[in-house]
Amino acid sequence: MTECPECAARVDHHDKILGEVFPCRDCGTELEVAATEPFSVQPAPREAEDWGE
Ligand SMILES: [Zn+2]
Repeated sequence: MTECPECAARVDHHDKILGEVFPCRDCGTELEVAATEPFSVQPAPREAEDWGE
């Protein structure tokens, strides 16, 4: 079982696919599936959002 890197909540990887981005159900951190065998996640990189000025 994999844990959320932010809050250590258990991450359910059922039906997750490589590269999928999903929010942690506990802390809401966006997580990206970094590998499936074995399953691991990393905080999803914050895409270059246009913050505007
Ligand atoms: Zn979390």
